[in-house]
Amino acid sequence: MHSPLNVIVIGPPAAGKGTQAERIAVGRGVPKISTGDMLREAIQEGTELGLRAKPVIERGELVSDDVMVGIVQQRLNRADARWGFVLDGFPRTVAQAKALDRILAGRDPLIIIEIGVPDGELMRRMAARRICRSCSVNGELGDVRCRRCGGELVLRPDDESADVRARRLQVYARDTEPIVGYYRGRPTFRAVDGMQSPDRVAESIAAAIDSVLETTGSSS
Ligand code: AMP
Repeated sequence: MHSPLNVIVIGPPAAGKGTQAERIAVGRGVPKISTGDMLREAIQEGTELGLRAKPVIERGELVSDDVMVGIVQQRLNRADARWGFVLDGFPRTVAQAKALDRILAGRDPLIIIEIGVPDGELMRRMAARRICRSCSVNGELGDVRCRRCGGELVLRPDDESADVRARRLQVYARDTEPIVGYYRGRPTFRAVDGMQSPDRVAESIAAAIDSVLETTGSSS
């Protein structure tokens, strides 16, 4: 029996976390759990969570740790995550990383993939990317309609203003980057160069995951 494949993809906004998490999920047959997608869905559905999260997201700030940890804990307890998952967008603070360790106690190994991309490129990508208005999937360059559902591709509200884009990079540096230090010393941590093409990044991540599985003896 395989061990569960528990993966988190970390990195700054527009580094390619969502795209790569989707590829890992499809390739390895585990669910992709994106906290950003969950929040955008809640906003679209007008739930209480959505109403609370909307102004925070549109300012480029982070939703509170308590709320986020609650959402992720519930999601990870669902049956489909029992044999693994790919988390995209969580953890975003050291407090969330510590909470995740507590939630996952006994569900090792946790594979941590960091995608690195310089700030100038992130600013460019945030301004250029489009997501599907209906299903939140990322559009491909040059597409007019979503490849999954045919929905209209639009700018993300938090990508619209240059101020909010810059704010998100500041918030990343202040609140999220410290989690790299929190994880870096672990034998299951791998850093990947996010400046390659999406296909090459995917290959690097697949190799990184395989190398962790080999060293932890989880592949047999
Ligand atoms: P993303 O799609 O991952 O870029 O997330 C979009 C926005 O949702 C972020 O800029 C935050 O405002 C919020 N968000 C997503 N995940 C988290 C998290 N783990 N902690 C706090 N806020 C989050």
